[in-house]
Amino acid sequence: MNWDEFAHWGKHIADWAADYHTTLRDRPVRAQTAPGAIAAQLPPAPPETPEAMDAIMADFERIVMPGMTHWQHPRFFAYFPANAAPPSMLAEMLVTTIAAQCMLWQTSPAATEVEGAMIDWLRQALGLPEGVSGVIQDSASSATLSAVLTMRERATQWRGNREGLSGMGRLRIYCSDQVHSSIDRACWVAGIGQENLVKIGTVPGGNYALDTDALRKRIAEDRAAGHVPAGIIAITGGTGIGASDVLAEVLEVARAENLYTHLDAAWAGSAMICPEYREAFWQGVEGFDSIVFNPHKWLGAQFDCSVQFLKDPTQQLNTLKIEPEYLKTSGDAVTNYSEWTIPLGRRFRALKLWFLIRAYGLDGLRTRIRNHVAWAGEVCEAIRALEGFEIVTDPILSIFSFCAPGDDARQQRLVDAVNADGRIYITQGMHQGRKMIRFQVGQFDCTRDDVMLAAEVIRDIERTLP
Ligand SMILES: *Cc1c(COP(=O)(O)O)cnc(C)c1O
Repeated sequence: MNWDEFAHWGKHIADWAADYHTTLRDRPVRAQTAPGAIAAQLPPAPPETPEAMDAIMADFERIVMPGMTHWQHPRFFAYFPANAAPPSMLAEMLVTTIAAQCMLWQTSPAATEVEGAMIDWLRQALGLPEGVSGVIQDSASSATLSAVLTMRERATQWRGNREGLSGMGRLRIYCSDQVHSSIDRACWVAGIGQENLVKIGTVPGGNYALDTDALRKRIAEDRAAGHVPAGIIAITGGTGIGASDVLAEVLEVARAENLYTHLDAAWAGSAMICPEYREAFWQGVEGFDSIVFNPHKWLGAQFDCSVQFLKDPTQQLNTLKIEPEYLKTSGDAVTNYSEWTIPLGRRFRALKLWFLIRAYGLDGLRTRIRNHVAWAGEVCEAIRALEGFEIVTDPILSIFSFCAPGDDARQQRLVDAVNADGRIYITQGMHQGRKMIRFQVGQFDCTRDDVMLAAEVIRDIERTLP
């Protein structure tokens, strides 16, 4: 492909993108494809000779598009949103075009310096104190793994990386039973082991916070048994129902026990740009050693963009920094962000934050989040009013859960039927041993009408079920 052809197709694809987004409401949210249907349309072997771009693009529309679930659809109420506001997409196009590896300051000084500035903009936006620094990672899973590795190294007096873990005792990490599966996986791959991730129950009602009395007791038992407590992972906005810990209480235990702390605010962290939510969800946050939140969720930055704030980055650097000769750079002291994370190679992720925050202003981003929280409350009341329906967990920010009349199997049948209908997309969850239906509002372009339509769709389809 020469650059004239590239320019032609680039314009075509930009037009296609705008058209795609303006007609999204006409498409079913979840792909209505049977397993194997897409693969069956792909040639079993690669072509030996070049093919024309218009044939490739036509096959993309014909074969690929019917098999896509539309995450940017305004009636996406499943999982959590993975937003991609248009200015952040434009920034990604530029990043893709330049295709720099931004591992060291010298391999793209602008990428490092914009990243530092964006971390500091977001620090201020989220009400964190001066002096907190951070790094942009690909995902919350990677940030959490980095924090767990730091817990491990700190608890082994920085010997784990060198000597391995045998003979180090049973390292223990504590969290509530509402954490995301990325915490389990971080403990698996860090060599902590599932059995040493101690999940504590929550206090009933409220925001389902970690029971810190039970936590204290458990740590004391573990110490008595000769185990090695290494850290606590708290959550602001858990995955199932939005469970949120009382941060100050968790920190009090961590301080008394000298434990490293990590806060998973992957989804709900974005809402903390609105000061009114901080009293209930964010008090004491500045005490955490590590905090992760995903601007690629609620804030609107295109995936991937996960910010990890660090109170004292030297602990994570002592865990992850490695400097073979070919990565050494001479001259002034600079930040080399690849020393802060597990992968060496890194994309220029900060540019989309710069575009996003400037294009909407914090006020524009706050308005969206406030609307989502308000509309989640309204649609929750509309579902509560449906005959036989029950709200299982009340809204925590923009997530709540409900049950239709009937047993677990009927909840699943309703979810499947709603998603086959295609006007909205929802997913199921488990709460206290019972299947329920999760509902979250957070898609960047959704309107109040989109959200309220969901209650009608759910009502109408529930009536058609046996
Ligand atoms: C989405 C989410 C994660 C995982 O985020 P990734 O960036 O996909 O790794 C972890 N924790 C919570 C609470 C989440 O909502």
